[in-house]
Amino acid sequence: MTPPIYERVALIGLGLIASSMCRAMQRGGLAGEIVGTARSAGTRDAARRIGLCDRVADSAAEAVEGADLVVLCVPVGAMEAVARAIGPHLKPGATVSDVGSVKQAVVAAVAPHLPETVHFVPAHPLAGTERSGPEAGFAELFDNRWCLIVPQPGSAPAAVGRLESLWRGMGAETERMSADHHDLVLAVTSHAPHLIAYTMVGVADDLRRVTDSEVIKYSAAGFRDFTRIAASDPTMWRDVFLNNKDATLEILGRFTEELFALQRAIRTGDGARLFEYFSRTRMVRRGIVEAGQDTDAPDFGRGAGRK
Ligand code: NAP
Repeated sequence: MTPPIYERVALIGLGLIASSMCRAMQRGGLAGEIVGTARSAGTRDAARRIGLCDRVADSAAEAVEGADLVVLCVPVGAMEAVARAIGPHLKPGATVSDVGSVKQAVVAAVAPHLPETVHFVPAHPLAGTERSGPEAGFAELFDNRWCLIVPQPGSAPAAVGRLESLWRGMGAETERMSADHHDLVLAVTSHAPHLIAYTMVGVADDLRRVTDSEVIKYSAAGFRDFTRIAASDPTMWRDVFLNNKDATLEILGRFTEELFALQRAIRTGDGARLFEYFSRTRMVRRGIVEAGQDTDAPDFGRGAGRK
């Protein structure tokens, strides 16, 4: 059997991502020991009850003692306070990483609190579900998904490579990216689409008369997929928008322009324009399926029961 990649891993926050990392590391024998902690006693108790980690610590400071890798798995807005709390307790030579959905704001919040003796290598797995908490995780979450690694100036190549090996061991493919490019890419592929889904579900909810009856009863692929996205964790998504403001506003500005153009095409009966537009967008879908990031199945690859 190959030796673990890290002797001791500490996961701060025990939600969907941390619990999935735990399961995936256990599946691959990637960590000698996994220590976890969460803010509330309820979450720590739940983690103990389901035997999620080898050990559940009562505080973040205690959890990081002696850890070779510390991964911050809390909402983006909570990263700074956690970094401040763990900074003095980190083992020299340890790697600190995170899984936050925004990178520039997390780097700015976390880096100042870390001692020079540790390596800071931010990361972001592009995988998730709308579920939260320690019981939501499963080992396969990262299989064939991307994990973007965001090395910092001065990040030791060995520390970056080791973290990449961990993510690949958990089933992901890795790619390196700068923090600002990451935030723009994610604004297009994830953040703006979530805001649009939230808005669409909000509009349907405003039309209560319809929501109470037809919208739910006849919920077909379009609206149903929006409701799944719009059921995502409110804290996480509030923090994403507050912390990826510029890139999200840039994309939403472009989105609004396109929406007005399509609105105009509908009003003026410009069928050719609509047809050309929808043909172009259909190709995007084909590209995603061909890249293995989704399946052609009518349920968009979501297995029954899991999500
Ligand atoms: P989650 O299931 O909601 O779990 C969040 C965890 O963070 C919980 O253990 C929670 O503790 C803890 N926490 C919340 N607020 C805190 C605070 N102020 N101080 C300390 N701990 C706090 O979240 P998740 O989905 O795993 O997301 C975690 C991170 O991964 C976020 O940064 C998110 O942006 C990123 N991410 C999420 C997804 C996704 O689709 N879900 C995908 C990729 C990356 P308690 O339970 O005790 O409150």
